[in-house]
Amino acid sequence: MEYNIAVVRGDGIGPEVIQETIKVLDAVGNRFGHKFNYNYVLAGGEAIDVTGRCLPDETVAAAKAADAVLLGAVGGPKWDTLPGDERPERALLGLRKSLGLFANLRPAMVFDELADASPLKPEIIDGGLDIVVVRELTGGIYFGEKGFKDTNMGLAAYDVEQYSEEEVRRIARVAFDMAMKRNRHVTSIDKANVLESSRLWRRIVAEIAADYPDVTLDNMYVDNGAMQLVRNPKQFDVIVTSNIFGDILSDEASQITGSIGMLPSASLADGNFGMYEPVHGSAPDIAGTGKANPMAAILSAGMMLRYTFGLGEEADAIENAVRAFLEAGCRTFDIAVDGTVPLTTSETGDKVSSLI
Ligand code: NAD
Repeated sequence: MEYNIAVVRGDGIGPEVIQETIKVLDAVGNRFGHKFNYNYVLAGGEAIDVTGRCLPDETVAAAKAADAVLLGAVGGPKWDTLPGDERPERALLGLRKSLGLFANLRPAMVFDELADASPLKPEIIDGGLDIVVVRELTGGIYFGEKGFKDTNMGLAAYDVEQYSEEEVRRIARVAFDMAMKRNRHVTSIDKANVLESSRLWRRIVAEIAADYPDVTLDNMYVDNGAMQLVRNPKQFDVIVTSNIFGDILSDEASQITGSIGMLPSASLADGNFGMYEPVHGSAPDIAGTGKANPMAAILSAGMMLRYTFGLGEEADAIENAVRAFLEAGCRTFDIAVDGTVPLTTSETGDKVSSLI
């Protein structure tokens, strides 16, 4: 099969980790007989330098025309003094919006070999940890009505949390579909003891759950959810939650793994289209040093194969290659332990490719 991928290399370590990801994708293509075509497009700081805009129209058009988007990372000190809506990071919001990416998937996985990197005690994560946070990405308080008004206590500012039934339905379906491919357990996190929007959320999630009799649904308040994630994270399989709660909880979940350089993410639209990117940023402090861990980007490409292209075996091949890399004792700089000589970004890409 042939697949067309729009690729945003981005800034800082973005191009470095993408280069290694392409090596691995090509190795997958060779082994399984697929052809991946890469259309390199501009977004972020590089796009500002070249075109004056962080998200040129051509990039949006190319992304829409592709089967999926792969993105490195954008941003850096060079553009930090620009006004908010002209900064490189605005390109991410623009892409999410124009591509209709309403579901953000962030797996938080602790590979056994990296258990030491987790800030949690070994007995809490013993036997591995494998959670996916499904965050609603285009609704809720970040996109609700906002403004200022005069009150007898002075100026007040407000941001409205609002969810429609259909917004909850579609994100709930993503979570339940995902649970069907995993351990068949969804935990919906809300604040239904206080918020009307959460009560609606809970009602609709229960309605969708009825279509998935094989999946167990638990509801949890967000304050408890934040606590349970560090107390007993192994109780979770798929977490589904709103934009703002997901923003916070997915960062918390990722820190449990202890290694930001290993964490992939996917943002999905209707009909399997998706944008895939590492969780980390452009890491300007290590750009150009060969110290960037390309694994988060490589695993993001694995998610692309699984969720957009429906290539489960090929996605397994990527995850297994990463696991074999770690089992062989190979380490990048961010996860190196005493006594190991870390591999550079490019050596890591070569090694993982050879293990495909
Ligand atoms: P960051 O994720 O870039 O870096 C945080 C720390 O983690 C740094 O010490 C960095 O060296 C390290 N790190 C990150 N990725 C790594 C990797 N693959 N291998 C090894 N070490 C890695 O976050 P930041 O420093 O807060 O942000 C830097 C820039 O990236 C900012 O301009 C920010 O706005 C931008 N950013 C972009 C995205 C994105 O493109 N999706 C996300 C977050 C931040």
